[in-house]
Amino acid sequence: MSGSGVLSPVMLLLLALLLFTLNLEPQIPMYSRAGYDITPLTEDAKKPLLEKLDEEAIRITQNAGTERPFCGTLLDNKKDGFYACVVCGLPLFSSEHKFTSGTGWPSFFSPYATGHVATREDTQFDMKRVEILCARCDAHLGHEFEDGPKPTGKRFCLNSASLHFYEEGEKLPTQSKPIQAEVAYFAGGCFWGVEHWFQKGKGVINVESGYMQGETDNPVYADICSGTTGHAETAKVTFDPTVISYETLLEAFFKMHDPTEVGRQGPDIGSQYRSGIWTTSPDQQTTATAYIEKLDKSKMLHSPIATQVEPAKKFYLAEDGHQDYIENTGRACHITNPW
Ligand SMILES: [Zn+2]
Repeated sequence: MSGSGVLSPVMLLLLALLLFTLNLEPQIPMYSRAGYDITPLTEDAKKPLLEKLDEEAIRITQNAGTERPFCGTLLDNKKDGFYACVVCGLPLFSSEHKFTSGTGWPSFFSPYATGHVATREDTQFDMKRVEILCARCDAHLGHEFEDGPKPTGKRFCLNSASLHFYEEGEKLPTQSKPIQAEVAYFAGGCFWGVEHWFQKGKGVINVESGYMQGETDNPVYADICSGTTGHAETAKVTFDPTVISYETLLEAFFKMHDPTEVGRQGPDIGSQYRSGIWTTSPDQQTTATAYIEKLDKSKMLHSPIATQVEPAKKFYLAEDGHQDYIENTGRACHITNPW
């Protein structure tokens, strides 16, 4: 057979290499803990956004320009609301952190939320300064200085042209809103490990440790340790349902722990370590119940599943020391990595 019209192995290899360099892998979404999509925009995604901007906004955001002092349109703005990136719409600063610095540029002592504003060293003009940028689209915003008021002591010095102000109550475009998140609750033993592994899920926005399904109000860790209040150590999982489904979270949950154990989990003994799914909607209740039935029928587990499925009662956030415990302490936990 002649080679014409058929891709040779060399050609196939070249094609594979080309696809690899084009990086056709879907981008992993990133979220701020405040619930905004902060996945870096590709150059292609930025193009149509830049076409809508005027010359001054392009000069400042794309070429690290600076507007003349006392000339910006937002310098004296005292209205309540937030300041979004003029390019991509991500909320960057809030009116509650704005102050009069006297420098001639709009000044804030804190960004809108952690992860929304990025920084990098700027050595332009033989000065050592900290440049601030939009974390989502890399737009140049201004600079950060260490002479701001309490409580941060920082001064974020902005160019008005890099921002778009949205007054409180104004209708917002999608790109300036937090994503439509869903919440799921899982109790699978010690919440340190359950929180840690759920946080690693693609499409998971935030996970917090807390106490649920007990009899007393405002429980603290010491109450939980007694095992008499009925609360279960629970991970509150806030997720983007357009990226990760509730079913995928269930799958991960059943890989993480042993759902056949009753009133304990691994080395941790007591009803506070019981296995439970606390549902936030009739849909979640149906999905979780069906999932357990299917898993039970599959006989993949050596004993019947003991996981309780109940409508969620009030979630009580655990003390600060229990949040991100594994991440902060570097300690290991017996909960299995499900991903
Ligand atoms: Zn931006």
